[in-house]
Amino acid sequence: MFLSRCHVPAGRRGLALLRRTIRLCLLGMSGFGLLPGTAQAETGTRDVTIGVLAYQGELAAALDWAPLTRFLDERLPGYRFHLEHFDADSLRAAIRDRRVDLVVTNPGYYVAMENEFGLSRIATLDSPQALSPDKATGSALIVRSDRGDLQTFGDLRGKRLAAMAPDAFGGYLLVVREMLAKGIEAESSLKEIRFVGVPMMRIVEAVLRGEADAGVVRSCFIEQAAARGELRLDDFRVLADRRSEGAADAAFPCGLSTALYPDWPIAVTRTIGHGLSKQVAQALLAMPGDTGMAWTVPADYQSVHALYRELRTGPYAHLRDVTLAGLLRRFWPALLALALVLAAWGVHTVRVEHLVQRRTAELRASLRARDEAEARVRSHQEQMEHLSRLSILGELSGSLAHEINQPLTTIGNYARSLLRRHADGRLTEAAVVEAAGEIDSEAERAGGIMRRIRDFARKRSAVREPVDMPALVDSARKLIEGMLLQAPPIVCENSLPPGCEVLADAPQLQQVLLNLMKNAIDAARELPPGRQTIAIRLEIVDKRLVVQVIDQGCGLSPEQQAHLFEPFFTTKPDGLGLGLPICKTIIEAHGGRLWAQSNVPSGMCFSFSLPCHAVSD
Ligand code: ADP
Repeated sequence: MFLSRCHVPAGRRGLALLRRTIRLCLLGMSGFGLLPGTAQAETGTRDVTIGVLAYQGELAAALDWAPLTRFLDERLPGYRFHLEHFDADSLRAAIRDRRVDLVVTNPGYYVAMENEFGLSRIATLDSPQALSPDKATGSALIVRSDRGDLQTFGDLRGKRLAAMAPDAFGGYLLVVREMLAKGIEAESSLKEIRFVGVPMMRIVEAVLRGEADAGVVRSCFIEQAAARGELRLDDFRVLADRRSEGAADAAFPCGLSTALYPDWPIAVTRTIGHGLSKQVAQALLAMPGDTGMAWTVPADYQSVHALYRELRTGPYAHLRDVTLAGLLRRFWPALLALALVLAAWGVHTVRVEHLVQRRTAELRASLRARDEAEARVRSHQEQMEHLSRLSILGELSGSLAHEINQPLTTIGNYARSLLRRHADGRLTEAAVVEAAGEIDSEAERAGGIMRRIRDFARKRSAVREPVDMPALVDSARKLIEGMLLQAPPIVCENSLPPGCEVLADAPQLQQVLLNLMKNAIDAARELPPGRQTIAIRLEIVDKRLVVQVIDQGCGLSPEQQAHLFEPFFTTKPDGLGLGLPICKTIIEAHGGRLWAQSNVPSGMCFSFSLPCHAVSD
């Protein structure tokens, strides 16, 4: 780098060899401390190691940077500065292992190391031939001068390119960016890219031998090599030379195919303290011109960042990593966490699903069990109701026989009367017609009683339908009057509006009415006939149909009334005590209520209410 500023007036191979020999000697003398300014280490001095990226090989680097160590040794007597030369990989390892204190390297490498290891630049080279410290270094795309077919970047399509390394700044990346700016993607457009490594002269040789159609070298490299007699400038041409294009960089002294970037920086690593950094920076800024090397304040390296960002390499290599594998590599902890969360969620979902299914099955089973239990209860209730009806019939059966007997006796009397008249020869047609009419009406009467009893006693399932309550009360009254030997008067007081109906099972309601009437008759049986009358009242109270069965019988004490609706409560010697509980169940199943209270001045009043189904005006 530095030698680019020492214009050695030599062009022949012999001189070049001589220079190489001198360099070796200088290096050797420097190593033994024989050169002026490289004083022997004194007791108490601190060693400071300067790592240098030696892109032209160690020897050239040693010669290039020797003035730097000499100068620093002189200016900072308490320290002894050593140069160490590295290729890209070994310099990175040295920085990582804290084996170097200062680093001198190209802008690209510096930006990469700044990002990776926190290198901090303290000064930038100030070359006299650079346009400015910010515009000091670029690349030249060299071709053999006899290759007239190669004039522009576009001509490189399908050609072979020699470069230093995939991450070489001036030796590759600058040209790649330049090609990209012209819409040419280097890797896919070129036939071959051959990376030849250091020293850079290998690229020149590859082009010269025809192994590559073009080569990427640092700007001014071929001019310096020619000056040293290592090549002939006439053998080469710089492709798309910006100077010949009359661009803003036309004043640059060397062939240039790319934009210009800042010059090399010197940077401190984390091994070096602030005090020494400051001393070195001050010394470098004050480095006199006669040393052949000048430094200025640190340049702006944003253009280098922009290059890396654009090419998605170096510190911005992760931007290129958008493949699935790349994303996995970068985000595996987050992806792993996400996968774990998803797995946990999946397990949770499966578990919840399993629990829901199990619970649903349990619920279904319990619902089924409940339905079965309800069906059983319904069936038992129907049986109970049936039994209760049969019980009522049983209680009334004594009178029933008598009641049936009456029409049968009448029928018998008429039949015998006809036979007698026939024997006496007095049988007239009128007598036959009268007897037959009576026989028919008595048979109808007996048949009616039997029909009602059969309907009442029939085993059946409940059906809800509109019921005309006054008609139902009347039929219950007729049934009980038909079955009882001496039925007391049953008076119905109907205050219902016309068309008032309830939605109910008529036989069940009839059973309730019969039970209440029978109990009322039983309670008044021993009383004088004037007090045996049963009253049945029908009225609307609070939009509900209320039926009251009122007697003036023996009544019940408050204690007895408290147990009235309990099963098996009875005061009768042959009673079952099931009638009222069953009535209560029937009424409540219809959405109604059954209750009892004492009647004034005597007896009981049993009432039940039902929701009205319809009331027509
Ligand atoms: P059972 O008639 O078989 O005894 P019920 O459940 O129909 O069964 O009646 C239970 C009891 O309630 C009767 O034994 C009777 O003591 C009493 N009871 C029911 N109705 C009346 C009433 N109108 N007056 C007085 N006591 C009544």
